[in-house]
Order: sequence, then C-alpha cells, then structure tokens
Amino acid sequence: GASRIAIVGRPNVGKSTIFNRLAGRRLALVNDTPGVTRDRKETHTQMGGRPVILLDTAGLEEADPETIPGRMRASSEVAIRQADLILFVIDARQGLTPTDRAFANLLRKVPAPILLLANKAEGRGGALAAMEAFELGLGTPIPISAEHGEGFGGLLDEIVAHL
Ligand code: GDP
Ligand code: MG
Repeated sequence: GASRIAIVGRPNVGKSTIFNRLAGRRLALVNDTPGVTRDRKETHTQMGGRPVILLDTAGLEEADPETIPGRMRASSEVAIRQADLILFVIDARQGLTPTDRAFANLLRKVPAPILLLANKAEGRGGALAAMEAFELGLGTPIPISAEHGEGFGGLLDEIVAHL
C-alpha cells in the first residue's frame, strides 16, 4: 500500500507550504497567524513512482508550547504513530526554539524514520543556518525553502530512499 508521510513541527515553520509543494497543488491553507484552527489535511500522490499519502498535521497549531505532549496524544499523534516516514520541520531563519527541542524529544521515541527539514533556508547563509539543527541529534538537516522551491530535488531523493 501507500506509504504515509507526516509533516510535523511547531506552528509557522512552513509545514503547509511544504505540503502544498510536495503535493504539487495548493491544498492546505498557509497562514501567517499561528493559532488559526485548521483541519488535518491529507492527500494521495506519488513520489519516485511510489504511492504515498501525505499528511499536514495542522492540529498542533492550537497547541500552547506547554501542552504539546498533550496535543501529541490527540489528533496529530495519530498521524505520527501511523506514519511510515516523518518530516520534522524547523525554521532555519528563526533557529531552534524550546518547542522544537520538545518536539525532537518526543519524536525520538517514534519508531518511524525521521527526516529533519530546515525550512526558510533561502538566500545567503540559509544552508549554514540550517546546520544548527544538527544538535537535535536527528541526523543531517536538509536545507529547503518551500516558498522559493529550493532544495526539493534533494529532499525528494531522501524521501524516496526511505519509502
Ligand atoms: P505552518 O504553520 O507550519 O503550516 O506554516 P505555513 O506553511 O502556514 O507558513 C507559515 C509562514 O511561513 C507563511 O507566511 C509562509 O509564507 C512562510 N514560509 C513558508 N515557507 C517559507 C520559506 O521557505 N521561506 C520563507 N521566508 N517563508 C516561508
Ligand atoms: Mg499549517
């Protein structure tokens, strides 16, 4: 069957923008305002000729940082638990936050392979800024810019290698 790929991370890092670009269509609502309630989005597509179900875990948008473990047990936890591959997104411009570190600690306990996506890494210094995420201990950060479509060739190769 299709591999389930879940896109996770704190609000506003660009999960929905990544989802739309990987889906090749504009399905998820991209919003500058964290805290906007959105449904979980999923779409069936293909990557490297293989069927995948791509999930945008918007349910965590409502989470107060203090309550992320609680929210992980709710709607998005289902997506994470059922995922064959997790795309964990951080914001390379903003750098790591306590919420990113809390997510990383929770994801460490999940058996599915994790790709660490350092989004918003466009422009000068973008790739370098992305490397800060190395310290999460979740492998080599993959610098991308979902808004500008940078780094998606390499990202697709990484995804397909894990399917
Ligand atoms: P989500 O809350 O994680 O789903 O994040 P969204 O996809 O809704 O994006 C949040 C904000 O970040 C929006 O204003 C996007 O336009 C912006 N954004 C997304 N990707 C990039 C990127 O690669 N570079 C920059 N500079 N902004 C981005
Ligand atoms: Mg979103």
